[in-house]
Amino acid sequence: MNYRHIYHAGNFADVLKHSVLTLALSYLTQKEKPFFVLDTHAGIGLYDLSSEEAQKTGEFQGGIAKLLADPACPEIFRPYLDAVRALQPEGTGEGVRIYPGSPFITRGFLRAGDEAKFCELHEKDKEVLLSRFEGDKQARVYGLDGYLALKSFLPPKARRGLVLIDPPFERRDEFLALTAHLKEALSRFATGTYMIWYPVKERGPVDRFAREAAGLAAGSWLRAELMLYGEARADRLNGCGLFILNPPYTLKAQLEKEILPYLVARLGIARARFLLEAGGD
Ligand code: SAM
Repeated sequence: MNYRHIYHAGNFADVLKHSVLTLALSYLTQKEKPFFVLDTHAGIGLYDLSSEEAQKTGEFQGGIAKLLADPACPEIFRPYLDAVRALQPEGTGEGVRIYPGSPFITRGFLRAGDEAKFCELHEKDKEVLLSRFEGDKQARVYGLDGYLALKSFLPPKARRGLVLIDPPFERRDEFLALTAHLKEALSRFATGTYMIWYPVKERGPVDRFAREAAGLAAGSWLRAELMLYGEARADRLNGCGLFILNPPYTLKAQLEKEILPYLVARLGIARARFLLEAGGD
């Protein structure tokens, strides 16, 4: 387990994942009924972008920093940008020093009665995350394998909710593992919204995963990819994607008309483009 998210926090991939996460969570808050969130690969929750690690890659400069610096950033990003701005120490201006990971973004949307479970397997990271949610009865941290957590925690009592699966892709067979565990999770909680993040390096494994995930869907699904480079090369991160099962019905149009075109224009590098596919009922 060598992956450390601090090197990548706030980069283009986080921008796509976290802006869509805020939309999915906002959607869940539209009904009074309580909801449940399971974050299978949670990270440490908050990232100091002034740290040596974050400064070393500077990846956030090509991500969140570009949105915050844009006075014309579309309104649809507001819940996401508000979540980021709320954490900045005084004097940060329109810059960014502290970046929220998925657990902090999620926590901001929980109402009394809603519940979240965050899993982080890395021993030290789990301790950091635990300390950040100590005493929180609605948001609990587990040092569990995220894939096993799908078995342990699904179906949730609330029967409505969101499962975020955001693995580090250190395993060569991560796509295979994802498909197998997703199948198992769907057999337990077929109506949940599942949001899976993936990197786009070579096209082959990505397309295979998307085909298989679509084959598992009993309801609707969306596949959204933000490609910083038009040409996919195996030796670099060309882009990233989200595969979403049972998405909020509003999300497809939001991605197609607002989120993806803006991110391509603002964050793209060379012949950037997006891909959006939808299926199911
Ligand atoms: N979801 C986080 C966010 O959006 O802020 C970022 C998560 S990062 C991409 C992946 C995390 O998964 C790392 O912190 C890593 O330590 C953790 N991890 C790796 N293997 C895991 C496993 N089998 N179960 C749970 N967590 C794992």
